[in-house]
Amino acid sequence: MGTSVIYERGPRARVIASDSTWMEGEALRQLDATAALPGMRLAVGMPDLHPGKGSPVGAAFLSEDVLYPSLVGSDIGCGMALWATDHPVRKARPDRLAARLDGLDQPWDGDTTAWLADRGLAATDHDDALGTPGRGNHFIEVQQVHQTRDAAALAALGIKEDRLCLLVHTGSRGVGEAVLRRHAERFGATGVAHGSAEGQAYLAQHDDAVRWARANRDLCAHRTLAALGVDGRPVLDVCHNSVTAAVMDGCRCWLHRKGAAPADQGPVVIPGSRGDLSILVQPIAGRDQALWSLAHGAGRKLARHEAKGKLKGRYRREDLAHTPFGGRVVCGDELLLWEEAPDCYKDVGAVVADLEAAGLLTVIATLRPLVTFKT
Ligand code: 5GP
Ligand code: MN
Ligand code: MN
Repeated sequence: MGTSVIYERGPRARVIASDSTWMEGEALRQLDATAALPGMRLAVGMPDLHPGKGSPVGAAFLSEDVLYPSLVGSDIGCGMALWATDHPVRKARPDRLAARLDGLDQPWDGDTTAWLADRGLAATDHDDALGTPGRGNHFIEVQQVHQTRDAAALAALGIKEDRLCLLVHTGSRGVGEAVLRRHAERFGATGVAHGSAEGQAYLAQHDDAVRWARANRDLCAHRTLAALGVDGRPVLDVCHNSVTAAVMDGCRCWLHRKGAAPADQGPVVIPGSRGDLSILVQPIAGRDQALWSLAHGAGRKLARHEAKGKLKGRYRREDLAHTPFGGRVVCGDELLLWEEAPDCYKDVGAVVADLEAAGLLTVIATLRPLVTFKT
């Protein structure tokens, strides 16, 4: 493992970063505070680390015996699903594709109960949201291969350079939020023993929320393919907010990921922004120094509330609907055009370069956005 990008902040906290991804003091302060929680063994900040609610986003946390629901966050199961489609790239016109995606924020008119039942899930209070990506930095993006670095690995995944891909980023909507809220009302931000009734109840609800989030990404992809009138196949579905059991040095532990992609479940897509590349990578197995995890995106460098003030004078409204790659942005909420502007995020190439320098991954291909749908 390379060491030039790995910084030990103490016996229990470590960050992977370089000059070009170095994070704000607040994010590091949150990382150190989290590492000091009872039962915490190790906290690892990824190069996309940024401040979150209480604990940072872009990190993995390993604890012994104690579960910390706040270290998973409210969008339990949030993640990225990549699909390969049959739509030829040469026939793709961003404006026409964009027109077809309009409406994906509306509730699905199909049978949500059956969709969930097929995936072993019971109906919930939040099923109106199933099949919609939700607000903020969630998105549905039509992409194409920009540059291939490992042609054999790309072909093995069933991705072709001359066919469009689809990247879906969404989570468990109200379902996960309700799980965290129920827990927080009783226990605040403190942890619970995993063997306790509370710990077991949280884990069961967490696992359901993770499956609900996957069912949601699946349905978002199906609706998008139907809207485009093309066939597609799932390539990967990787969740970046979760807690799972893990063994470290023979000790049974709990691995919390809050904006960290798993490095032990096959290839991963690390997205940049609607104006940047997304990078398809192959994790290198067995890297427990990074808690079997990778960055989950480029990571914010501007908080939402800072974005409008800093970016407003820089663009005209019309400019914001276009990507630097000649693509289109479909976005109902004008404020998001500022809050989700590419300038709000770090350079995803630099984030991935740090992880590569740390010996954690190799790059398979880069993907560029043609149409980004946000609500
Ligand atoms: P989070 O899971 O923390 O909400 O966001 C994950 C990552 O998605 C962000 O760090 C950012 O790099 C990326 N991202 C946010 N919006 C977009 C978008 O519209 N398109 C793409 N390709 N990536 C985005
Ligand atoms: Mn989310
Ligand atoms: Mn997410």
